[in-house]
Amino acid sequence: MAIASTNPATGEVVERFDELTADQLDDKLARAAAAAASYRLTSVEDRAGWLKAAADHLEGEAGDVAALIVSEMGKTYQAARAEVAKCVSGLRFYADRGPAFLRNVDGDGGKVGARSTYVTYQPIGVVLAVMPWNLPLWQAMRFAAPALMAGNVGVLKHASNVPQCALYLEELFRKAGFPEDVFQTLLISAGKVEQVLRDPRVAAATLTGSEPAGRSVASIAGDEVKKVVLELGGSDPFIIMPSTDLERATDVAVTARTLNNGQSCINGKRFFVHEDIADAFMEKFVAKMGALVVGDPMDLDTDVGPLATESGRQDVEDYVQDAIGKGATVLVGGERPDRPGWFYQPTVLAGITPEMRMYHEEVFGPVAQVFVVSSLEEALREANGHPYGLGSNLWSEDEAERDLFVRDVQSGMAFINGNTTSYPEIPFGGVKRSGYGRELSDLGMHEFMNAKTVWVGE
Ligand code: NAP
Repeated sequence: MAIASTNPATGEVVERFDELTADQLDDKLARAAAAAASYRLTSVEDRAGWLKAAADHLEGEAGDVAALIVSEMGKTYQAARAEVAKCVSGLRFYADRGPAFLRNVDGDGGKVGARSTYVTYQPIGVVLAVMPWNLPLWQAMRFAAPALMAGNVGVLKHASNVPQCALYLEELFRKAGFPEDVFQTLLISAGKVEQVLRDPRVAAATLTGSEPAGRSVASIAGDEVKKVVLELGGSDPFIIMPSTDLERATDVAVTARTLNNGQSCINGKRFFVHEDIADAFMEKFVAKMGALVVGDPMDLDTDVGPLATESGRQDVEDYVQDAIGKGATVLVGGERPDRPGWFYQPTVLAGITPEMRMYHEEVFGPVAQVFVVSSLEEALREANGHPYGLGSNLWSEDEAERDLFVRDVQSGMAFINGNTTSYPEIPFGGVKRSGYGRELSDLGMHEFMNAKTVWVGE
């Protein structure tokens, strides 16, 4: 895929970028390794200060950065502002809480024949981040903020359609005062990831993206015996039970499916509604999905902008056509609007069966699948039948149902009466084919640290 910024609302190529040459790439990796050797010795106070400065810079230029995000991947301006604000809070969170996460943890020395024993957390060096375009700042930031606080050095291979966001991140950390080369963007194609990951100067990798990309990176990392964290696809279940406030649940269901123009790993994608409230839910949900304003993502009245790439829209259309061809019913939407850019109507489908591709895969666009179930047990059976296990949602006022959901849903995150969202304060990640490892919180920071055991004798 060529490295270029293309405006998804118009289809216009804004700027093309050259890929790094072999020499340039080698030079960048050499610089990263050199930076890692000295950066690990910096104080946590200095690192926290640089993170805070990065937060201040980003906050100060939030409007322009949000507009840049919109121009490269088409999310609405309001969503882009929210993404920038989340990055600011992520930077401040690790600046404030990072020092506590990095403290030594004492053990019981007496029990192991020592005067003292403790675990000390140390950085591991250069970490490669392979990131997707859908939250072009936040996906990279939730790696970068804890990594830099930990004393690691980052090299970012961002998605080929968001090069300006990728370059902005490098500039942001430089402006914030981090030592030279502590965070570098590598303008390279996906085909070069293997070479970088196999390079002895690179210690580990984190990848957020599709299952095929994750499988490839995980197998290379396995071959090299390097640590890897994988945040892959999701087809999150959103279960609505009779005891819930239906109006609120329906509002959030619409947001859950259409946030980020329907291109988030944690979008609610499969809606399981109890039969007692199915008609009422369907009526409200379909009406609200149909009333969404699809249009220019810079227009503040727009709810849903274009999909990020032409091929992404084609994939969504193919999924919908496959389902229709095999008997699914379109309750609303189901077509591309007649306008330039890569738009797709918010869509609700019923009658989805296992013969249809979308039943087992992930539709990365504003297309909801609705299933009617007769019990929470049935909803969980269906929900857990999917290969992914990223987020999950239950809407219920019933304590026993909530307990059952938390116990049995196969997902890395379980949200009750709310939409699945990432926060710096709580861990983020999945199970099954959604990947492994955790981002955010103290867990995310410790993924790329050596938890070194220290034993001191008498
Ligand atoms: P993608 O095609 O896998 O791309 C993601 C990144 O991986 C890009 O930088 C891409 O580079 C690179 N890449 C692609 N194939 C690769 C390979 N074989 N080896 C190494 N790198 C490779 O994913 P996408 O379509 O852009 O993003 C959508 C997917 O990401 C969805 O499945 C979504 O659910 C998932 N996602 C997951 C999370 C999470 O936290 N779990 C968050 C966001 C998105 P190029 O752009 O150069 O191809």
